[in-house]
Formats: sequence, structure tokens, C-alpha cells
Amino acid sequence: LTTQLAKLEAHLGRYRSEGLQNLINGETCAARSGAHFETRSPVDESLIATVSRSGADDIDAATKAAKAAFPEWAAMSGAKRKAILHKIADLIEERAEEIALCECWDTGQAYRFMSKAALRGAENFRFFADKAPSARDGQSLPSPQHMNVTTRVPIGPVGIITPWNTPFMLSTWKIAPALAAGCTIVHKPAEFSPLTARILAEIAHDAGLPAGVWNLVNGFGEEAGKALTEHPDIKAIAFVGESKTGSMIMKQGADTLKRVHFELGGKNPVVVFEDADLDRALDAAVFMIYSLNGERCTSSSRLLVQESIADTLEAKLIERVKGLKVGHPLDPATEVGPLIHKTHFDKVTSYFAIAETDGARIAVGGGRKGNEGWFVQPTLFTGANTSMRIAQEEIFGPVLTSIRFKDEADALTIANDVQYGLAGYLWTNDLTRALRFSNALEAGMIWVNSENVRHLPTPFGGVKASGIGRDGGDWSFEFYMEQKNIAFAL
Ligand code: NAD
Repeated sequence: LTTQLAKLEAHLGRYRSEGLQNLINGETCAARSGAHFETRSPVDESLIATVSRSGADDIDAATKAAKAAFPEWAAMSGAKRKAILHKIADLIEERAEEIALCECWDTGQAYRFMSKAALRGAENFRFFADKAPSARDGQSLPSPQHMNVTTRVPIGPVGIITPWNTPFMLSTWKIAPALAAGCTIVHKPAEFSPLTARILAEIAHDAGLPAGVWNLVNGFGEEAGKALTEHPDIKAIAFVGESKTGSMIMKQGADTLKRVHFELGGKNPVVVFEDADLDRALDAAVFMIYSLNGERCTSSSRLLVQESIADTLEAKLIERVKGLKVGHPLDPATEVGPLIHKTHFDKVTSYFAIAETDGARIAVGGGRKGNEGWFVQPTLFTGANTSMRIAQEEIFGPVLTSIRFKDEADALTIANDVQYGLAGYLWTNDLTRALRFSNALEAGMIWVNSENVRHLPTPFGGVKASGIGRDGGDWSFEFYMEQKNIAFAL
């Protein structure tokens, strides 16, 4: 830990003295109003850096830059864009350790999981870099009177708004396909975790991306974020965050008919049937809710367990949760770090009383850990039913709600009985049941006998209140590009 802290300190010095500023048209600049806010570490509330608190005029300047840079970037050959995006990936890999250390300090996520986040970010750039040359590929659809040629063109400058939970990886996930498609961008990162977005924008600059292609504007959601969603020259908004924010963005973007792509909240079930491999199911269930502090959209926050095995599984689960190591996020042994900030800590811990009022049991945890920083005890609620708030609401912390079910029909009713529909995890050795259940489960992504493993060519996204649109493979280009049909009379 001492070595990790010393390394972090070496990286942070510059940001402490300079502050985290915007990057507009290739220039580092403060907010035009001169306003700023502070970002503090959830470990001990110490100051990390001051951050530009941008407003509508900064968004306008960034959008003008993105608009001016668009024709040249859109017209650049896919091969050239591919080379620049690979260069960004190279530089991310070079700075991977710095990114991981900064991300953990800014967000509270444990280093053992975040150490791979930068490399996943680099992989996102490589995947979409390789797709850049074929992004415009279309087809020919002849009719008796016409030769139809369909093609795709980039939609224009786009706005990208990201959350604080895994900010680096999620930013790359959105930005890489936008650039590969030929769009220019204005990125508004989450105010609670702006550090690695700044590093990422620097990397893009150093990789030789033309000025104005990638603009970074820091600030609050209701100020800079709102202005971005309302700007007439921003053609689309790719947003990752809470469902209620998605709803606000849809309203804000209505006057300018904004195209939106939303990746929102989840209350994902992990359903364990009596014929499952219980040890593997247990490993996956623990990993999917307690890693990343439970601050993960695809976390398995509801355990649905068949009554016949519930006592056994819950007893083993209790032991596992008790054994989780809560600690400093930079300590490689830590499994659960502090929550992002006080407001979120207050929200997560409020569910301990809610659980008891609703009649569930706190089998493990249910309190704060230590007196400094936003650490909570990994928590397990048992004896819950689907109507309780702990079974319905996204808590977004290391908190699992266990609900028992009788049979397959009962499990399906409970699994679908939430407003969300992002992911689902099934554990059974009955293949027919797995197919039948997956077919009826209301979720955008389902893993059978597996934890969540991201494969970039597959579609990622949710149904119901969990989102609109899909990321990954060609689905990303569907969002960042317009279809165009040209009909030649024969
Ligand atoms: P949030 O909605 O509070 O904020 C996300 C971003 O939106 C921030 O940058 C914020 O500044 C901005 N914002 C807030 N109000 C805005 C407004 N009126 N106009 C424009 N921008 C605005 O979300 P959060 O608390 O940062 O992130 C946690 C949420 O994100 C959870 O619900 C989680 O499930 C979700 N999430 C979803 C996915 C997914 O892929 N489905 C991935 C990660 C996180």
C-alpha cells in the first residue's frame, strides 16, 4: 500500500497544481466564468484537485470546435482513423498503472478490479479502430426501376455523458465507436470522478487526434450536462447513468429532436435452481454484487434461490460475505472499497433501516465500516419478498437481497417484477429450462451458468427502465451513423 500511495502521489502532483481543466479545440482551458468545484477522495475526503465548473458558454465553445472539426474527421479515410485510434490504445496501455491508481483514488473502486480497467479501455479502442475502415459499408438493393445504393454517414458532433462508477472504461466504450464512425465529440464526465477523463483526453491529444475532434468539458449535470443535451448542433446524446436522469435528458433534448442512446440502471436477478452447480453459482453471485463495491449497472443485486436449496446456499453465502475484505482501494488485497461520496453513502446505508421496517433480516453487515471515508459493510438481506423496496430499487452498493422461490414459474414472476431489465444470470443444468426461462426473462442480456463477461461484438444494453439502444459491434455504429439511400433510375 505504501508503494502504491507513493506512485499515486507522483501522478497527482500536476493535477493538484493545475486543476482539472477542460480541453476545447485542442487547448487546455478553465471554465469561461472562472468557476470551479473540488473533487475529493472517498477514502478520506482529502482534496484531489479543483475542477472547472463549466456552463452553457463552455459547451457552446466545445460544440463549435466539434462542428468545425467534423467535416475533415468524417472525410478522413477509415485506415487513417484506425491508425490514430490504435495509437490512443497504445498510450492508454503505457499509462495503465497511472490510470488505475487515479481511478481508485477518485472513485473508491478496489485496485484488484480496476487494474484491468485501463486495459479494457485500450481494448475498446482497438476493437473499434479495426472496424473504422468498414463503418460506412452499405449494400445494393436493386428494384426494377432503380439501382439503390445504401450507405452510412456519421451523424455529426455528438455529446457523451458518463457516470462515476467505472468512469474510464465507460468513457472509452462510448467514445471509441463515435470516433471510429467519424463523429466528433463533446464529453461531459461525471462531476464526482473527473480525474481519468482528463488523462484520457490528454492521451487522445498526444496520439495526434486533430484539434476539436475530442472536447472535454467538466461540470455539473444540471449545468454543463443540460446545456449539452439542449445544444442544437449536437446531433445525438450517448448517456450512461440513472434512469431518472435519462428521462430528464429525453425531455431536455426534445426541442432539438435529439437522438438518444441510454444505458441506465438495473436490479438484476441471479436465479439459482436446485439442480445448479451451487459452488460455481455462489462464486459468481458474490463476485457480481460485491466486486466494484456493488456500484455496477449489471450487478446481481437480487439473489433468487429455490426454496429446496435456500438454507444451504444462504448459509454458505453468509460465510463468504463475512469474509470479504473491506479496505483501502489501493491495497491489492482489498475487495470492497469506499462508496463514491457522502450522498451515495447516505442513500445506500438508508436501506438498512428500510429492510428492517419492511420485515427482512440483515444476515450480514448493515452498518458503516470505520469512522473515516465512505466505507460500508458488505451486506446481505434475507427473508425478503419481491414487494419490498430492497427488492425493487437500485441500491448501487455492496448489498444483496435474497428472495426465495418455489418453482420456475414463481422465479420468472419475481425476476420480471421490477421496472428494470438490464441483465439476468441463470444457474441450472437443465438446458431446456434455461432456454425457456431466458426466452421469457425481461432483460437485454442473459448469462447462463456464467458471470458477466463482456464480448465486444455482442449487443450490450437493457429493456424497460434500463435503457434504449445497444452498444457493441455494429450496433454502436447504428447509433452514431445515419443510413442513406441513393436511388439511380435505370
Ligand atoms: P447520474 O444519472 O446521476 O449521472 C450520470 C451523468 O449524467 C453525470 O455525468 C451527470 O453529471 C449527468 N447528468 C445529471 N443530470 C443531468 C442532466 N439533467 N442533464 C444532463 N446530464 C446530467 O448517474 P450516476 O449516479 O453518475 O451513475 C450511476 C447510475 O448509472 C446507476 O443507475 C447505474 O446503474 C447507471 N449505469 C448504467 C450502466 C449501463 O450500462 N446500463 C453502466 C454504468 C452505470
